[in-house]
Amino acid sequence: MFQDNVKQIKERLDIVEVVSSYLKLEKTGINMRACCPFHHENKPSFFVSPARQSFKCFGCNKSGDIFTFVQEIEGLEFPEALRILAKKAGIDLQQYKANPELQTKKQRLYEILEIACLFFEKQLEQTKVGNLALEYLKQRGLTDLTVKKFRLGFSPLPKENNWRALSDFLVSRGYQREEVVEAGLAIVSEKTKIPYDRFRARLMFPVFDLNSQVVGFGGRVFEHSTLPNREEIAKYINIQNTPLYDKSRILYGLNFAKMAIRQKDFVILTEGYTDVIMSHQHGFENTIAVSGTALTPYHLQIIKRYTNNILTAFDMDKAGGMATKRSIELAQQAGFEVKVITMQQEKDPADILKENPKEWQKEIDTAKDIMDFYFLGAFNKFDISEAKGKKEIAGILLPEIKKLPSKIAQSHFLQKLTYLLKVSEEAVMEEFKKIIPQKGESSFSANQIVVPETKPIKPAVKSRKQMLEEKALALSIIAPERLEYIDEDDLLFITQPTRSIFQACKDVCEKTPIKSKEEFNAFLDELSKKNPDFKGLIDECVFKAELLEEDDPEFEFQTCLYELRNLNKKTILAQLAKEIALSEQQGDEKKLEELSQKFQLLTRPNVSKKENS
Ligand SMILES: [Zn+2]
Repeated sequence: MFQDNVKQIKERLDIVEVVSSYLKLEKTGINMRACCPFHHENKPSFFVSPARQSFKCFGCNKSGDIFTFVQEIEGLEFPEALRILAKKAGIDLQQYKANPELQTKKQRLYEILEIACLFFEKQLEQTKVGNLALEYLKQRGLTDLTVKKFRLGFSPLPKENNWRALSDFLVSRGYQREEVVEAGLAIVSEKTKIPYDRFRARLMFPVFDLNSQVVGFGGRVFEHSTLPNREEIAKYINIQNTPLYDKSRILYGLNFAKMAIRQKDFVILTEGYTDVIMSHQHGFENTIAVSGTALTPYHLQIIKRYTNNILTAFDMDKAGGMATKRSIELAQQAGFEVKVITMQQEKDPADILKENPKEWQKEIDTAKDIMDFYFLGAFNKFDISEAKGKKEIAGILLPEIKKLPSKIAQSHFLQKLTYLLKVSEEAVMEEFKKIIPQKGESSFSANQIVVPETKPIKPAVKSRKQMLEEKALALSIIAPERLEYIDEDDLLFITQPTRSIFQACKDVCEKTPIKSKEEFNAFLDELSKKNPDFKGLIDECVFKAELLEEDDPEFEFQTCLYELRNLNKKTILAQLAKEIALSEQQGDEKKLEELSQKFQLLTRPNVSKKENS
């Protein structure tokens, strides 16, 4: 039954489609490739084969099918990967709910959050206060369709001191109060020790993971005259980190935005849920938001799967301005091209979009390079007709210029500053030299943007001989007739398990001539099923074979064989030299003569292999 499901899912989903939802694939011959998401690299060595429905990284050696891929990239156990892919494939796994293997703790948390989401949606639609909240959303410009797409909801009002509407509902559905707490939806009361609902009388914004599963919530206070005085309540609250929700890794809206980000090759980063929602409603679907935190290296690592270009639409003048600035610097140091949408009207993106979406397009088109943005800000803030103003401006801009990695860029902006301040270049340079690059801030690097939990992966080290052998095997897999060129002497020197695979291939070809490549591939599949030890190597060689097909395989094969035989010859010669030395020592004249002849024969130029055997 389990296997049936796996088979069904594999039939319905294409690996290219699955992998593409996480990273940018480019076509290369019959395969697709990308920079590996599992280890840091600049040149792509991660390949996806549509024909074999598998992936393989030649850098870190990770390989497998759609299930392995989703497990690895999402950091999940198999049952969870199965759930995600089943959902994607539209296959119902309900019948296996009783299976204890699938009833992992995490899965119950997913269920709780999904039920809570439905509960909040229903409250928004069907209760009186909920309808008022819905009305408010519409006033802000959201359409019914948008409310449904983002699954907005409403958390009920506390009734007669009952702060447990949601908790009680979930308990009635068979979940423990502790689980509701663990899902982030309830807080344990200090006094009574009984958990109560975290969200009460709030507009609810579910937060989704990349596969549109609810993993958390944000709640916005809903101000209405019928509600008790809510002035002292935080405008937005988010759930705390849970096993499913980690705010340093969650990007709001990414599940809806990922394809658009890849297509447009830039992402618009905002600060608010409604900014994201309104952007999507108006076709700016490459918009996402961080929720309740500044941008982290984890966020950047995730964004990097889709694009290298970030447009920020942050409010730079708010109290959070410094945090925002650090976020931008972090992104720059991670190798992103960062531009800033300035929003001179001092409005939220959501407000601009509600009034005039074209205005927002204009803001995007005129987004400023980060340095230009700093210049604009500094010059707007101070009066350059006074010495004090000039000093302040230089004090803001010179450290920024110092941070630029390129000397040419530094020089460019120093000249610009000199010109705009109307002071001497010497004076600016003197001040510039005084600035010491700040430690810590400049110590971030693109290489550092890796998820720390994954241990550094050492690429497998293979000898040149092993690589040649595997290449020869790969080239024989494309055209099994090449196996005839590999003779018994060659086989003797080939490393295991490559030798056994060669031997098995040769054996089968001798018994019954292989008619087609498909037939041979079927044989290989069979072979790797029978010998699990061979599987990794066979998979790898089949992959290599597909890549090699693009060049001149015949020439490659002959070169490969030639080099292998040369290596073997060197080994034989080294062995002979040892034996010669030994027989000299022992004074065995006859043996010495025999060995010397062999040695000379082998070292004669252009001697063919057959002659000396
Ligand atoms: Zn890799």
